[in-house]
Amino acid sequence: MAESKNNSTQSQRLNLLGKSSEELRELAVSLGEPSYRGAQIYGALYAERKSEIAEMTALPAAFRTKLTEIAEVRLPAITRAYRSADGTTRYVLRLTDSSEGKAATIETVFMPEEKRQTICISTQAGCAVNCQFCLTATLGLIRNLTTGEILGQVLVALAENRDALKPQTNVVLMGQGEPLLNYEAVMAALRILLDAKGLAISPKHVTLSTSGIIPGIERLGAEKVRPKLAISLNAASDEKRSAIMPINRKYPIRDLLEACRKYPLRPWERLTFEYVLLGGFNDTPEDARRLAKLVAPLRAKVNLIPWNPGELPYRPPEAARIEEFRKILADKGHLVFVRYSRGQDVMAACGQLALVESAARA
Ligand code: SF4
Repeated sequence: MAESKNNSTQSQRLNLLGKSSEELRELAVSLGEPSYRGAQIYGALYAERKSEIAEMTALPAAFRTKLTEIAEVRLPAITRAYRSADGTTRYVLRLTDSSEGKAATIETVFMPEEKRQTICISTQAGCAVNCQFCLTATLGLIRNLTTGEILGQVLVALAENRDALKPQTNVVLMGQGEPLLNYEAVMAALRILLDAKGLAISPKHVTLSTSGIIPGIERLGAEKVRPKLAISLNAASDEKRSAIMPINRKYPIRDLLEACRKYPLRPWERLTFEYVLLGGFNDTPEDARRLAKLVAPLRAKVNLIPWNPGELPYRPPEAARIEEFRKILADKGHLVFVRYSRGQDVMAACGQLALVESAARA
């Protein structure tokens, strides 16, 4: 796939992408324009999703020319796109924003459905959390993404699929990285994503998934504008959780669930607990009963995610085990779903995002 002209060389021009309304207003004033011109740039950039200043026709032509001399919209460049038999596309994106950090490669997944599309975005290049079932962990942390790089993934995925978009867009922060360990940039991106004058995606359609960073959960709960929260739990005892998620030694299950209990849910909201079922490890009836007890005091739902075969030493759970596990939770009154990951044939599924290059290229 051709690379965007903006990314083939490192540009010295200011990247407008990721700037807030206030920052764009300040920029307009610094260029001798009224501050409302900044709001117009904001609307063109995010609500109209214009990626060229020349296309921002709400701005006077003379201002567009002046702006182009010092600024641009620098989107991440697609270096590969792998299309799955189920319609899912995994994009490998190269970030070269030299003014904002060293070059990095990340992944974004676009999943079309009948009435909506879901975009899974990365918040860091690689990840330091080291979950043992996750291929991203094998990369280690390369660097945090900037606000523009986080938002840019949504814009690129929408632009690439512009002819087939459904009215509803869901965004999940479940790609590479732990979002709550890149808090400021993630929140700045979410404010623009959720802003009615920005990308205007409903908070009901945006989910941030965390491995359980308690201080981040507490901060998020205090935000006026925030997405839904999912906790990647994956085990019902500290012994098992620490074995697959070393972060559990710092933030053990009891403390994590206490933070969940205090989390200020909105009237329409439930917490989501993600539970990757690793065959023979955490999929026994006893695990299910423990999990049911742990989440009982919370307004929550449980997503069971059968392990995706990858390059790690786990095996998928047997179908009968998955059903038995689900039934134990359902019989205790829990809202529980089995989520089969999409795009497994192109390594786009949960826990598979590690820049694997062997899958069929689109
Ligand atoms: S599951 Fe998420 S938090 Fe854990 S290592 Fe993978 S990317 Fe990081």
